[in-house]
Amino acid sequence: MWLRFTSFLIVLVVGAAIGWWLRGWPVACAGMLLAGLAWCVVDVVRALRVLRSLRDGDTQTLPRMGGLWGEFADRLRRLQRIGERRQQDSERRLQEFLDAIQASSNGVMLLDAEGRINWCNPTAAAHFGIDTERDHEQLIGNLVRDPAFTSYYANPDPTRNAIVTGRGDSAGRPVRLAVRLHFYGEGRRLMLSNDVTALEQAEAMRRDFVANVSHEIRTPLTVLTGFVETLQSLPLDETERARYLELMAQQASRMQTLVSDLLTLSRIEGSPPPGRSEWTALGQLSAECEDEVQALSALLTAGQSAPHALEFAPPPALALAGSRTELMSALSNLVSNAVRYTPGGGSVKVTWQTLQAGQLEFAVEDTGPGVAPEHLPRLTERFYRVDRSRSRETGGTGLGLAIVKHVVQRHGAELRIQSVLGKGSRFAIVFPASRVRASTPLSAPV
Ligand code: ADP
Repeated sequence: MWLRFTSFLIVLVVGAAIGWWLRGWPVACAGMLLAGLAWCVVDVVRALRVLRSLRDGDTQTLPRMGGLWGEFADRLRRLQRIGERRQQDSERRLQEFLDAIQASSNGVMLLDAEGRINWCNPTAAAHFGIDTERDHEQLIGNLVRDPAFTSYYANPDPTRNAIVTGRGDSAGRPVRLAVRLHFYGEGRRLMLSNDVTALEQAEAMRRDFVANVSHEIRTPLTVLTGFVETLQSLPLDETERARYLELMAQQASRMQTLVSDLLTLSRIEGSPPPGRSEWTALGQLSAECEDEVQALSALLTAGQSAPHALEFAPPPALALAGSRTELMSALSNLVSNAVRYTPGGGSVKVTWQTLQAGQLEFAVEDTGPGVAPEHLPRLTERFYRVDRSRSRETGGTGLGLAIVKHVVQRHGAELRIQSVLGKGSRFAIVFPASRVRASTPLSAPV
């Protein structure tokens, strides 16, 4: 400001001096006036140039000049640059925020006060089958027709989820979504959706499992209780007593086997996957399996005209890496199933062979009743039985193949089942080459 005032004074003095130099004092006053006027005109012209640029709204065209107006233009330019930088900053942050929501595996949708879709991320679009461009500003109530959603939307409760059917739901492949609405702004709503299909299935499986276990335990328990009551209330002779006690022992042993299989399953599920530090020679696994199955076969065919023809091919001099107890449990389950389901006189053949690429196959072939193709995909489900009475009679729990499946998966192996109804079955486990090596004297059978 001082500079401006000084420049004005200097111009006045210069004007007066020129006037005095030309014609003396009277003209000096006129010179001073003229100089002052000229200064004001120049000043107004400069102010007008600045104003014109401002009217265009672009500070980049502001004239570059000295003096007060020049500084004014410079400051305006700087202010605009700061404003632009702030705007870019907040736009970048908004974009990052939107990118994060876009990448979320949960569905996010913004609805206005009328329930029109303002914005949604790809997950929400996939959940509800929404086309982000076509359905923009569409009413959500028109697009999601599930009655569960309609009733939740009419009475939204941000503290609880509504479970609704998602896009692509079918009988074979259900899609269940947990949806929740939150209010914000003036009547606006944030709708979050989450795919809970796997959770729902796990919960249904858990319920089924508990129901199955209760049923499996309740049956022998009821029989046992009945026998106890009979023993308590009826005067029985020694032979009858012995017969009842024998039947009670059978039921107790059935419960014991069930509990033991359940414990095996839960131990397998709860423990870390077996590494490659424990090696067991095939000879050892095979010998143990053979002993167990010979005894089982003798027990099952006792009193029958023909025993089983059991054939155990000698295993190659190899060792398998993994949990010895788990491997034993899987192999003996397959062999004992073959023996249990094959009537006396039938044959059961156990073989080991190395396949291409170094894989090792353990196979059990029987001439039993076989399994119809429609049952094959479900055989490894817990408590799934094709022949319920044969399973029970021979001490089956319905968990054998479920245990085998778990063990096989944990060892990176594959379970292959082939069966022809009325002819027999072939159950094979194929172990990866990485779990097979030549048997060393240390891991050889003792
Ligand atoms: P279980 O304890 O009932 O034998 P598993 O899980 O071991 O249960 O087997 C499931 C079902 O698969 C059995 O109930 C039986 O019907 C069928 N199954 C298993 N192995 C054989 C086989 N070798 N021959 C015929 N059916 C079999």
